[in-house]
Amino acid sequence: MIPYGRQSLDQADIDAVVAVLQSDWLTQGPTIERFEQAMAERCEADFAVAVCNATAALHIACLAAGLGPGDRLWTTPNTFLASANCGRYCGADVDFVDIDPLTWNLDANALALKLEQSERDGTLPKVLVAVAFSGQSCDMRRIAELAERYGFTVIEDASHAVGASYAGRPVGCGEFAAMTVFSFHPVKIITSAEGGMVLTNRPELAERLQRLRSHGMTRDSQQMTEASHGPWYYQQVELGFNYRITDLQAALGLSQLSKLEGFIERRRELAARYDRLLADLPLTLPGPQSEAESAWHLYVVRLHLDAINLSHRQVFEGLRAAGVGVNLHYIPVHLQPYYREQGFAEGDFPQAERYYAQAISLPLFPLLSDEQQDHVVEHLRRLVLEE
Ligand SMILES: *Cc1c(COP(=O)(O)O)cnc(C)c1O
Repeated sequence: MIPYGRQSLDQADIDAVVAVLQSDWLTQGPTIERFEQAMAERCEADFAVAVCNATAALHIACLAAGLGPGDRLWTTPNTFLASANCGRYCGADVDFVDIDPLTWNLDANALALKLEQSERDGTLPKVLVAVAFSGQSCDMRRIAELAERYGFTVIEDASHAVGASYAGRPVGCGEFAAMTVFSFHPVKIITSAEGGMVLTNRPELAERLQRLRSHGMTRDSQQMTEASHGPWYYQQVELGFNYRITDLQAALGLSQLSKLEGFIERRRELAARYDRLLADLPLTLPGPQSEAESAWHLYVVRLHLDAINLSHRQVFEGLRAAGVGVNLHYIPVHLQPYYREQGFAEGDFPQAERYYAQAISLPLFPLLSDEQQDHVVEHLRRLVLEE
């Protein structure tokens, strides 16, 4: 089975991890800081805080933004659960903004309308999690203007978008978001096995993120409530977590980062090849967001079901039966039983629901060969053109 995504590891990655195993530090050593600095440099951000996964990164980013009980977090329904759950971890209410029918990202026009309404109702959000779906940023310029006007904090969930750019600058540079979150899960652009990171330009947020990552503890006398008792002294100044990444993982992430440009180049090449090979089929192909250059985590097609003789499910199962490991990103989050219990129902976000009824994610990863991709296209073609 050709998977929809997978990691690309080489001997240099393996050597980097083994070198840490043979060193003095398995965790909390110097490699984490090197990984953070390298990511901050690549993304043109001032600070980077590495954690054990992107879900933890989203959680502490929300806390650093001051999100708490009684507050509201808004995000897109077309995302992984974690983009919404981070709000619930903080005790906040979660709500959604429907997607743009062309880019499948959170729709900035729908956001503007919902903000107008919620200003009248006194229900403005404190945090917006803007997900760069499939590796392509949302209309961040517009979102940043709305954030300024209505006073909410923008967290860009760029789990799909390591190495992407927006308005000519790297995603993570902090021009349009207070904090940017990356995931290093093996199906994402670069991997540290499990791993995540928050990037920001604001020193007070970076300090808070570092503390929340490690039990709310500090060894910095500036952050303490009284003079240090001695060289052993630390204080817990708030409630934090153990969300630390290990040096083993950071070594893998750092080694992978050195190959990022090649990964992205191959992903772009494959995406352009899909664009070409699928152009004549009854499908909607990914639509570009002006100003965004995608990292191409996912290549999603939407089936024109009125022009296809099989159902969405039959095409999906037909591809799996042909050894093509397709997937579906995403089941609208508001339709999950947990969120239905919070009051959401079918019909709430019609664009995301319509998208879900038609979408299929095709295999896309740097080691996918042209021959494998041709196999994917050949079977998809056969299924959607079946008499
Ligand atoms: C993968 C993913 C996450 C969670 O990442 P982990 O590192 O697995 O915790 C969050 N948001 C989005 C959009 C993702 O795709």
